[in-house]
Amino acid sequence: MTQQSDTTPDSVGETYDVFADAGTTTALGGNIHVGYWKEGQDIPITEATDQLTDLVAGRLALQPGQRLLDVGCGNGVPALRIAQAHGVHVTGITVSSQQVARAAELAEKSAARDEVGFLFADAMKLPFEDGSFDGAFAIESLLHMPDQTVALAELRRVVRPGGRLVITDLCQRLPFTGEDRAVLDGLLAVYEIARISAPDEQRARLAEAGWQLLELTDIGEQVRASYGHSAAAFRDIAASLDPPTAARITAAADLLEAFGKHPHAGYVLITARRP
Ligand code: SAH
Repeated sequence: MTQQSDTTPDSVGETYDVFADAGTTTALGGNIHVGYWKEGQDIPITEATDQLTDLVAGRLALQPGQRLLDVGCGNGVPALRIAQAHGVHVTGITVSSQQVARAAELAEKSAARDEVGFLFADAMKLPFEDGSFDGAFAIESLLHMPDQTVALAELRRVVRPGGRLVITDLCQRLPFTGEDRAVLDGLLAVYEIARISAPDEQRARLAEAGWQLLELTDIGEQVRASYGHSAAAFRDIAASLDPPTAARITAAADLLEAFGKHPHAGYVLITARRP
């Protein structure tokens, strides 16, 4: 088992509010996730992060008019992009009140404004009826949750039979041991991450929550460049912050960079089906 750190929806929300205030969650265009580069592709990180969103959308088997749930919607950038590109309705939930406000503000300026809705809600206790959605996606959000199996069971409940769930998340290909444990523990602490799982743990939790696994791929090498780009952006921002916040953001940058250089650092793309 990989180690676990204590997080709560409140502590996660507060951390995102601090990072939002510092400006780190909008530095790279508003997506709060890694970029994805195809083999040999040379595009800036802001495009590569959108490309990760498109990869997720492609796995959702979307049809116009469908209703989707975005679990941990961040600033709403992925939800707006998917709603606009595919003519679907997306409801985004987050445990950061700043993100709800920011997402609503971005939606106002978007052509897809009537197709999205953002609210403060906990994925482990979803305020939706059974079968309310045709599908769901969770981009780098499950890792924050103290009980991912409960969240996955809640998602199974609110997605209709036959609907899909697409997840992306950091993973540990092999356990971080010895001195490297400090990198992992530091990363969990600074980002309020509950755990970075092994692929087998992801498989087991999905099965336990009643999802049928269609695909689990480690795309770690296609996203690896992201960590260095993000760390550099964080350091730029830290230069103009008050000393305590600057120290926190610099520490976050260092840990992100160290994680990204580690061969055990992977990244999973998972597609599951609600039986
Ligand atoms: N998916 C977004 C944001 C990723 S950041 C993007 O790709 O841009 C992680 C997100 O997960 C944040 O929005 C955070 O508020 C959300 N999150 C973490 N724990 C959560 C929980 N228990 N319930 C709902 N959202 C949660």
